[in-house]
Amino acid sequence: MSIFDLHVHTRRYSGCSFIQYEEIIDQAVSARLDGLALTEHGMRWPDEQFENLRLAASARGIVLINGQEIHARDARGRSEGEYLIFGVNRSMTKEKTASELVEVVHDEGGIIIAAHPYKLSRGGRSRYYGAGDLIYT
Ligand SMILES: [Zn+2]
Repeated sequence: MSIFDLHVHTRRYSGCSFIQYEEIIDQAVSARLDGLALTEHGMRWPDEQFENLRLAASARGIVLINGQEIHARDARGRSEGEYLIFGVNRSMTKEKTASELVEVVHDEGGIIIAAHPYKLSRGGRSRYYGAGDLIYT
């Protein structure tokens, strides 16, 4: 069995994170993870920067995956939740509906996962910060 954390942000590219990217490998080793995925908000790590980090992680026995987390919105700008995306080799825009994101990611051979679908919203208009029941449609 391998244990991965598939949802990691760094302070470098995500305002919600307090961890510097230089620390993530030590943290992963301490937590006895086999690997982790960087899933920054609205972007994918640039290939050259990511490759340096991947090599450093690999030298410590940690598999590093370059993903991204995209916030989907409907045509009126209402949240349709956040999604983790793997296997798409470019940063995706934030201006897509959830169904458009699923279609684009699948067309490009990637994987899309609803991030924290039932995380409760903190005072927003929608009940959930994540996809909520949209995961069933
Ligand atoms: Zn996140």
